Amino acid sequence: MRYVSTRSTGQAVTASQAIIRGIAPDGGLYVPETIPAVDGDFIRGLCDMDYRGRAAAVLGLYLEEFSKEELDQIAAASYADNFDCPEIAPLHQLDENTAVLELWHGPTSAFKDMALQIMPRLLTASLRKNGEERTVSILVATSGDTGKAALEGFRDVPGTKIMVFYPRDGVSQVQKLQMATQEGANVNVVAVDGNFDDAQTGVKKIFADRDFASLLDGRGYFLSSANSINWGRLAPQIAYYFSAYCDWVNAGRIKIGESIDLCVPTGNFGDILAGWYAKRMGLPVGRLICASNENNVLTDFIASGVYDKNRPFHLTSSPSMDILVSSNLERLLYCLAGDGEKVAGYMRALSGEGRYQVDQALRDAVQAEFAGGYCTDDECKRQIGKLWREKGYLMDTHTAVASRVLDDLRAREGAVRPTVIASTASPFKFGGAVLEALGAVTDETGPALVDELAALTGVGAPKPLSGLGDKKVRFTEWVAVADMEKAVSEFLA
Ligand SMILES: *Cc1c(COP(=O)(O)O)cnc(C)c1O
Repeated sequence: MRYVSTRSTGQAVTASQAIIRGIAPDGGLYVPETIPAVDGDFIRGLCDMDYRGRAAAVLGLYLEEFSKEELDQIAAASYADNFDCPEIAPLHQLDENTAVLELWHGPTSAFKDMALQIMPRLLTASLRKNGEERTVSILVATSGDTGKAALEGFRDVPGTKIMVFYPRDGVSQVQKLQMATQEGANVNVVAVDGNFDDAQTGVKKIFADRDFASLLDGRGYFLSSANSINWGRLAPQIAYYFSAYCDWVNAGRIKIGESIDLCVPTGNFGDILAGWYAKRMGLPVGRLICASNENNVLTDFIASGVYDKNRPFHLTSSPSMDILVSSNLERLLYCLAGDGEKVAGYMRALSGEGRYQVDQALRDAVQAEFAGGYCTDDECKRQIGKLWREKGYLMDTHTAVASRVLDDLRAREGAVRPTVIASTASPFKFGGAVLEALGAVTDETGPALVDELAALTGVGAPKPLSGLGDKKVRFTEWVAVADMEKAVSEFLA
């Protein structure tokens, strides 16, 4: 299977090349030329497997250069005791027709682990397949969660090094501590004296510096990113929707062939797009419900066909969804329209005027498969309180947005369809907001909030979060924006 860019009909590449490149030379994103189809027997087969087997089987359909043994081995190494439960992505039954797919049992307690625990292994295998012998050095500018998940994913992976820059005063105390205590012999974490944009611009400048690239080449290194638009991060996410479906079949709640809805708290549109791929492959999914917070650019797009980022930016208590440009939407537009020129035009309009309007056929195609909705910060917090009181289930702010949007949709339609909600973070990761939602008054900050939430609810906190205060701080260095390249050079000496 070959991969093509969403912006042109240019040269197709192999899966391993798409993973190595991350982004296509024309600025587009790589998508598989055709979407593999599966049938009921395939799903029945998955039902008898554990998560590792399911992940390897689904990935095998997209990564033809990888042998079954290779993928089995990679999946087994990626989804192991680095997760805190053997199911890896367990399904929690909330009520008769609703289940929560918990995607946060990995080392950083957020769903990005589902992709970032396996992507480094897919990347290094891809490099070997293409005869690359230099060490790949991942550079990341982070505003919080991605940096930590990438550090955990690449830590001690042979043939890789990783360096993360974060804004000195732009991340939460817990996030800072998570990164500063990072373990691993191939990692480095440096604060930047600036905001997230400064850090991001600094990293982009380093990537664009040809002289620096040849200097590193002489030392046996080359630079790469672990960006969320990389196909190597999207593909592993498709597997957990199949896994959730199988778990529901195995629990006797549905029969193979019966259709379910998926409701996904959305930021960059990666998680929900993986659900759409699962649907297109043949997983019986009715519709995809795209849930947003007050940054509801996607809700409006699904309703009207107009994508307009010219609007106020809201800082909410679901910060990983505070996004106005959802990069992965480009993949959906390309797959539905099948026209790279058209998509390139929309993306030009987006970077020029901050806005584009899709034609009616494309709008209809989006509406045929997606429903959109959003809720306010206040509604999100009330939802957390409600579910805790009524069902004894503790939810983080991002998942609560999805849960509330689903409740609103069901109330509007006066009908309830079986739905799986993707849960993207442990409630302890956003302990302050969750405590507030439960009506607790606290003066605590940072890691103490984790203990306080555990004490209040009696729910056990994930080990990596509860033990954070006791971990050794390894990284305290900070640099000026102008010195970021020097810091990389010293790390890759
Ligand atoms: C990244 C993230 C999201 C958004 O996922 P996308 O794939 O970007 O849509 C939602 N919730 C949490 C907790 C996240 O970390």
